[in-house]
Amino acid sequence: MRPARTSLFHGSNQPFEIYQCKIEPSDVGEVLVKVNLAAICGSDLHTFTGRRTSPIPCILGHEAVGQVAESTDVTDFNGNTLNEGDRITWSIVSSCGTCLNCTSYQLPQKCETLSKYGHAQRSLPRDLNGGFAQYIRLQPGTAIFRLPDSMADSESVSLNCALSTVIAGLNVIDIGDSVVIQGCGMLGIYATSLLRYYGCGVVAVVDVRSDRLKMAKNFGATHTFNLTEVSPDQINDELLALTNQYGVDLVVEVSGVASAFTDSLDWLRIGGYYLTLGYVYPEAVTIVPMDKIVRKCLTIHGSHNYHPRFLGDAIEFVQETRHQYSFNLLIGNTYPLAEIDQAFQEAIKGNQIRIGLNPWE
Ligand SMILES: [Zn+2]
Ligand SMILES: [Zn+2]
Repeated sequence: MRPARTSLFHGSNQPFEIYQCKIEPSDVGEVLVKVNLAAICGSDLHTFTGRRTSPIPCILGHEAVGQVAESTDVTDFNGNTLNEGDRITWSIVSSCGTCLNCTSYQLPQKCETLSKYGHAQRSLPRDLNGGFAQYIRLQPGTAIFRLPDSMADSESVSLNCALSTVIAGLNVIDIGDSVVIQGCGMLGIYATSLLRYYGCGVVAVVDVRSDRLKMAKNFGATHTFNLTEVSPDQINDELLALTNQYGVDLVVEVSGVASAFTDSLDWLRIGGYYLTLGYVYPEAVTIVPMDKIVRKCLTIHGSHNYHPRFLGDAIEFVQETRHQYSFNLLIGNTYPLAEIDQAFQEAIKGNQIRIGLNPWE
């Protein structure tokens, strides 16, 4: 049995424990994966800082990329055989495929018996279920995709959370031509480049950090607004000028800031769409002037995680646009697993879009 180094989360703001275990053989339908690179996602930070709860102890981490570590009979999402050494990415949940949410409602990410990587209590050495470890064991019901050789780990690591989530959200609304994106983290940057790829003429990004807004320009933003310099009303004036006084077709919320919702109600045109992806913790509460939603005939759409087919779309999108956009630059400093405490402290500062973890350094 081969050894594996893992990191255990013991509670909010507690140091991680580096824990060595021996890997037990996989059962039928499971796939052992050697993790090449993992990234600290915003929801890992929500868990770490206590904004949302997680069973403890657990191995955090769900944005990850790796290689099939042993021969397997499991096939990928497209039905192709998986071989030892194949570089893969995988859906962040495993789902049953038979419950109502999986079938009639087409929301397998909300499966009644789902298991989510990086969020479940572990019983080592059976459960290697998080990405911040040398190995992760994928369960039956996980959608697995092979990665093109040309795509670097740093371009692929956040596809299975951030990018797929954005693609899934945009798939269920009318996008239109003019969009405002609230929040310039990983989801905001991906949303910016995607909406330009989809042909939007106005893609405006709102944030409070000028360094991130500068980055958004490199990923296709046509306009940027820094909320420390301009008020929501001033932004509204500019948006009206850009849209013949109509207002924008769509606002995409990926900031997690509750007040962002009310800011945006003036920016939208009559019949516009609001897509929220960022309110993933229970404290996201705000007072809403409901009449604006009704009188403007707005559609509010929430979307969480994604149907696995959108992970396939995410791979295709990066493959097609990787020469136009430097997605590899979205992963900043990469730390060895033994320095995961420092990695989290750096991620909390927010100076880089994503912090990487290399479990093999
Ligand atoms: Zn995530
Ligand atoms: Zn199900």
